[in-house]
Amino acid sequence: MKPAEILSEARALLDDAIQLRRRIHRHPEIGLTLPRTQAAVLEALDALGLETRTGQRTTSVLARLAGGKPGPTILLRADMDALPLREETGLPFASEVEGAMHACGHDAHVAMLVGAARVLVRRRADLAGSVLFMFQPGEEGYHGARVMLDEGLLDGAGAPSGAFALHVTHREAAGVITTRPGPMLASGDTIQITVRGKGGHASAPHDCLDPIPVACEIVQAFQTLVTRRVNVFDPAVITIGKITAGTTRNVIPETAHLLGTVRTVSEVTRERVLEGIRRVADGIATAHGAEAAVELIRGYPVTSNDASFAGFVLDSAREVLGAERVTPMSTRSWAARTSPTCCSACRARWRTSARVPTAARCTRTTPTGCSSTRRRWPRASPCTSRWRCASSSAAARSEPPRGRPPADRIVVRPRLWGPVAQVDRAAVS
Ligand SMILES: [Zn+2]
Repeated sequence: MKPAEILSEARALLDDAIQLRRRIHRHPEIGLTLPRTQAAVLEALDALGLETRTGQRTTSVLARLAGGKPGPTILLRADMDALPLREETGLPFASEVEGAMHACGHDAHVAMLVGAARVLVRRRADLAGSVLFMFQPGEEGYHGARVMLDEGLLDGAGAPSGAFALHVTHREAAGVITTRPGPMLASGDTIQITVRGKGGHASAPHDCLDPIPVACEIVQAFQTLVTRRVNVFDPAVITIGKITAGTTRNVIPETAHLLGTVRTVSEVTRERVLEGIRRVADGIATAHGAEAAVELIRGYPVTSNDASFAGFVLDSAREVLGAERVTPMSTRSWAARTSPTCCSACRARWRTSARVPTAARCTRTTPTGCSSTRRRWPRASPCTSRWRCASSSAAARSEPPRGRPPADRIVVRPRLWGPVAQVDRAAVS
């Protein structure tokens, strides 16, 4: 199959993709329960003759396309959920739901994945292996992928051996695909520390145990922890973003509270830093006769792309779109929140996979799509980190087993003329 033919087929589906995207955009839904979005997906897939399955605890949709030839299963993933924002774009297809908006582009992702399904169904006879289309609710911090994993996403015969996902972004020029091998998105864990001393009058600190200087010392020590105990080539970030203590000028409080985040790009460093945070906080508090209650809340893990998959995506994109539209990603993102979609199970399977399965070549038809529309954010362009959730489906999770993490991710921009469902930004927005 020549790339030009696939592009031509995809372009023929453009209007359908736009209509589906706008339908979903009008009715954004947040979290794990997205009945209208699920209904739109099922309706769009209805005529394709795919084996479909819906989630029990979420409104997820899984659809399987069995190819005409034997081969592995590759998973293609799109997230489905919206954000809790009020849309003020004034677009004719703007959100009709107060306080909800598809501002992260997931409506486009759904339409793009349906487009990929439509193109691949037409080529069922030539397809070596199967394609599993994964429509995932609850990407925006609701761990929707985890629910799907718990419900058997990667279990049983025909489980996927790799996965691809994509996300629109404004960080690249329109029509450009970018990705990178290895760690791509940092882990994001939360630090909560309560330093407990003994309150009293500010004029007699010797009769008290002031928790504030202890808390300050802990914050300072964290910076030393990062620079002295972490490999500079496998870096970490610790930021305490909030300190609260006390009520007025002349009272020493009982407690001081620290709230922060830690970001890493490897599981090794992640564990080292988390352990170090606890040790440093405990040690400093103890040294001053205080107590430190440390709570470390684990967020999404590091997202790490399989090197061969990343290379495969870039090579395929060059072949289909031209080298001028493909850019290897040079930097990682410290904005985690990526979804740990298929991670652990898929990673395990990759341990046994020596090379990219043949069927994976079909996935080169998926890096297509459009951007979300104009939007107004309550703060300065948080969308800069949006592609963090570009999260690869099966991807996610760091600590690549013997250097072979699963899956891949790609990031696309509006007006990307991909082979499956090219969506022109102007037409979409
Ligand atoms: Zn997103």
